[in-house]
Amino acid sequence: MLPLLQRVEAMSACRDRSRLPDVLFGAVGGMFGEGADVGLFLRESALGPPALRRFSGGGCERRACELWLACLDEVPGDGSLLRRAIDGRDCGLVALQASELCNEQVILAYARHDGATPEDGERQAHDVLSLARIYGHQLRLLDYGELDSLTRLLNRKTFEETFDRLLQASTRGCEYLGGERRQADAAMPAWLCVIDIDHFKRINDTFGHLFGDEVLLRLGELMRRTFRTGDRLFRFGGEEFVVLLNAVDAARAAQSFERFRRRVERHDFPQVGQVTCSIGFTRVEALDVPTDVLGRADRALYYAKASGRNRVCDYEALLGAGAIAQPQVVDATPAADIDALFD
Ligand code: GH3
Ligand code: MG
Ligand code: MG
Repeated sequence: MLPLLQRVEAMSACRDRSRLPDVLFGAVGGMFGEGADVGLFLRESALGPPALRRFSGGGCERRACELWLACLDEVPGDGSLLRRAIDGRDCGLVALQASELCNEQVILAYARHDGATPEDGERQAHDVLSLARIYGHQLRLLDYGELDSLTRLLNRKTFEETFDRLLQASTRGCEYLGGERRQADAAMPAWLCVIDIDHFKRINDTFGHLFGDEVLLRLGELMRRTFRTGDRLFRFGGEEFVVLLNAVDAARAAQSFERFRRRVERHDFPQVGQVTCSIGFTRVEALDVPTDVLGRADRALYYAKASGRNRVCDYEALLGAGAIAQPQVVDATPAADIDALFD
């Protein structure tokens, strides 16, 4: 198989969006071979400064970076390739399609080696552009499969499929690499909350499903605006939402969830007016499985509902205070010696 085809295959097989830029970077590096420089820049927001996150090549990293930085602001936003001859080197830069999940922009840059022929340059520019488009298509497919169609938050399937990965990557940046702050966050414990809209059935019954949907949409928007870029936000179906975030302790986690609860309470929803939600949260332990974590957060949520709604409840705190009982451990020991049955 052609080496380039192998790289394309790797890109189409990649289902982890945080790894996708690396796969593309490897593909482009492999295509140019030794002598050329290839770099990946990351801009955390539309107005933020671009920072070099990956570099490979035979040249000097600083020199290549200076070449690229000179024209980084001119890179078109429509996915076309900017080509420039700088210092006698043939350079190309392209902004990659961004995921719907965040504003981070990834820019791929190359500088061919000094003696490279112009004919190869044309072909390679086309190939880079094709690879960048394949990257964009793959990201769209991931968005399509992983995002809830109404709110554009992550869907439940994503949570169940990638729980472990999420725990490691929940603060590594919503898409890719991320800054030092997020890396520091990753060392903190993870917390999971379940958010459930109060009396949502009544909203549907009174105002109709269309306005009910509008409430769901607005709630998703409020989540995006309240929680941080690295936090994972899900719609679990119906009027239930889940947030996975890192915080230093329970008080800090509660603070974030409380801020969201207040924000919902104060929001003026079209036609409907005030809407409230109840929240249950729990600490995620290293050996936790998704159903256990969700089960604990659900119990705290149930308590919040039973004790008046529009409140945030901490599972571990409720347990410590004796407000809820310790879950019963199911004895998994087989009643009989299974091997003996087959003797
Ligand atoms: P509680 O405060 O105890 O949570 O009461 P509730 O009425 O919110 O809870 P319940 O589970 O009884 O009702 C949830 C309702 O959500 C029922 C269902 O019709 C509605 N629902 C589920 N999915 C959607 C959706 O996608 N759009 C709309 N508009 N309604 C939905
Ligand atoms: Mg519900
Ligand atoms: Mg509800």
